[in-house]
Amino acid sequence: MGKAMRHRSNVVWMGMFAALVVLSVVNAVFLSSCSSGEQQEESRTEQTQGAEAQEVATQDAGEAAEDAIEPVGDVEDGSESDDYLFLVNRAEEHAIPDGWLDSIELVEVQNRLGETFTVERKTAEAYQDAQDELEGEGIYSCLNSAYRSRETQESIYEEQAASFGEQYAAEHVAPGGHSEHETGLAIDVILIVDGEELRSIEQMEAHPEELAELDRVMAKHGFILRYLEGKEDITGYDPELWHFRYLDDAQVAEDIMGRGITLEEYLGVV
Ligand SMILES: [Zn+2]
Repeated sequence: MGKAMRHRSNVVWMGMFAALVVLSVVNAVFLSSCSSGEQQEESRTEQTQGAEAQEVATQDAGEAAEDAIEPVGDVEDGSESDDYLFLVNRAEEHAIPDGWLDSIELVEVQNRLGETFTVERKTAEAYQDAQDELEGEGIYSCLNSAYRSRETQESIYEEQAASFGEQYAAEHVAPGGHSEHETGLAIDVILIVDGEELRSIEQMEAHPEELAELDRVMAKHGFILRYLEGKEDITGYDPELWHFRYLDDAQVAEDIMGRGITLEEYLGVV
């Protein structure tokens, strides 16, 4: 992943602006986010968990944080880049690129109850924009899972292997270094319609209009669904209507979503 290497120079900038980064984290971007229980396992079924429906809280603290961290940004002219267009899946050759986590900024995203998720900064901002747009249409969603450290992913794998056997873990859980959640670019969301939290495929598909609008607006802000029905053999996962991956390129995201293809197919690595 040669392009990620370019970001190494940004490490210097990040050092220079460390104080600002710390400030931005302290002033964590407040996103609409459901109360959530333990972060769930990354598995083929990847059940979402959470507490009861929370009133969606929107605090527009993101703008100040965004301004504060601007010098650290890796795209000088504000244009989109293809740096985020890399593939992470279970295949040995598609681990998280070396240096990726050093090239990005992770920010904390909190709801009013103080529950915290960690998300890559641009991903967090794009999701906030998508939420704002959806809320204007009376459609709500909230974060249910986001960044997961490699250590966490490995412990999930080991727990599943201990409980259900090595073969089960190998088939159902991404090994360390191979979960999109480790990139900071993947988020799981809950769709909320008329105050009801929709977490399962069945629940979400019962509201096709809102679901379609969620997908449309998320794509408009640079997100794609990663695990599609009928593409299980390509992605290695059962369908997940809640797992979005940020690409930092709305045109590409809309193209991928419009064609109903996977990132694997788009990148030609199937
Ligand atoms: Zn997920």
